[in-house]
Amino acid sequence: MISVHDALATILETVSPLAGERISLLEATGRVLAEDVHSGREVPPFTNSAMDGYAVRHDDIQHAQTDQPVSLAVLEVIQAGAVPTCTVEQKTASKIMTGAVLPPGADTVIKVEDTEERDGQVLVKQSGPRGNNIRLNGEDIQRGQVILKQGRVLRSADIGLLASVGRGFVLVHQRPRVAILSTGNELAEVDMPLQPGQIVNSNAYTLAAAVREACGYPVPLAIARDTLKETRTALEEAVRHDVVLSTGGVSVGDFDFVKAAMDELGIQRLFWKVAQKPGKPLTFGLLRGRPYFGLPGNPVSALVCFYLYTWPALRRMAGHRKLFFPIVQVTIGEDIPKARGLTEFVRCRLTHTGTGYEAHSTGNQSSGVLSSLSLSESLVIGPAEAAILKKGTTTTAIVLDSEEFIGTDFPF
Ligand code: AMP
Ligand code: MG
Repeated sequence: MISVHDALATILETVSPLAGERISLLEATGRVLAEDVHSGREVPPFTNSAMDGYAVRHDDIQHAQTDQPVSLAVLEVIQAGAVPTCTVEQKTASKIMTGAVLPPGADTVIKVEDTEERDGQVLVKQSGPRGNNIRLNGEDIQRGQVILKQGRVLRSADIGLLASVGRGFVLVHQRPRVAILSTGNELAEVDMPLQPGQIVNSNAYTLAAAVREACGYPVPLAIARDTLKETRTALEEAVRHDVVLSTGGVSVGDFDFVKAAMDELGIQRLFWKVAQKPGKPLTFGLLRGRPYFGLPGNPVSALVCFYLYTWPALRRMAGHRKLFFPIVQVTIGEDIPKARGLTEFVRCRLTHTGTGYEAHSTGNQSSGVLSSLSLSESLVIGPAEAAILKKGTTTTAIVLDSEEFIGTDFPF
């Protein structure tokens, strides 16, 4: 039996980012860049007006005031998207719209509110500094500049930057394809009536959802019955994917064939059993460099093991550098007994106090009771050596539900 720390370290040593794939920008939100992106152009691509107004020579209007306006002859109207046809000479101006190309000769834009146009002349009633209301060619991005680095998790502003330099496709790390194999004679499909002794194969759904949340593609496989032959055949199919998850069949029951099937297929077993609760029977192996997670069958054990170990592994494979759920320090809100000798992950609700968070158990902590995991926002980490989490003490909690941090109050 190994410690939770050693189990996690063992797993993360074996996984690395997947190769890149070129995808459309429209698909790229949340994906991780697998290249440094150099800009092939300048942004803005030309010097332009930041206001609707008049493009002028600053020398002409520098002394303009409301009671001493300067009169300039209007040459043309320059729309956004058009190319100016006139050069702004002494005592002339061109009317210009926001985003339109600054005409040659002009060095300043006077906003329309500070002018009055009449009979082909514009009266400028305010001056302002030279260069006012002008956006210079390349002031945002220079040609050749690295705009985004490898490892960047792409957000909306990044997607816009990429678009603005003409990159409709980007190289991102592939997302891991994760086979989900459920073992057990008792399992029935979700939409079938239950025969005596049967339960729904809920783990396949739980894990498919968790794989999606963790940035992978779930590939659910058919249920494997509890024979060595069927388990081995199913596993053989599963190991064609980037990652394999199986649930059930890793304990010491008479019909637990996962470990034997692993051995027959030559899956190198790196550990079996972790000093934790829930999820003690977790096993982990490698086949041709591909990780295999033998998750316990109990629904809570399976999902908690996924969160603790598979989640960071999938994120690393998808190129992420930040791998783990956020953690917060919490005050224990009531005495919570725990198993001495095992690190225990206690399903808890978090409540805000004036100074921080308080954790309360969500009830029955049995590894079959999924509703108490559904009710919890966090897993409070009970250290192995402790036999109780004492009310009022401080410990670390893994925050599973980041909705916890989303605001309910007006921010301003
Ligand atoms: P096992 O690890 O195979 O001994 O299973 C432990 C417990 O988890 C048993 O009560 C199983 O019925 C239950 N279980 C196993 N696989 C699943 C599954 N795919 N979905 C829901 N419960 C399961
Ligand atoms: Mg079983």
